[in-house]
Amino acid sequence: MPIYEYICLKCDNKFALLQSLYPAENNAECPKCSSRKVKKVISTFSLGTDSGNSASPMPASGFSGGG
Ligand SMILES: [Zn+2]
Repeated sequence: MPIYEYICLKCDNKFALLQSLYPAENNAECPKCSSRKVKKVISTFSLGTDSGNSASPMPASGFSGGG
């Protein structure tokens, strides 16, 4: 079961919830202040790999036009 992390916009409390088969339903609630104003955050797992960088500074014109 996928675990989604949420952050409360009220008390900045970060908590994780187990989403059921219906992840579309945003019924997340802050266990601290019972606020519904929470935002889903993307869990960033540190895999320790640098392969597949989407935003990498690619040299536009550097390898072309060799003199
Ligand atoms: Zn809260």
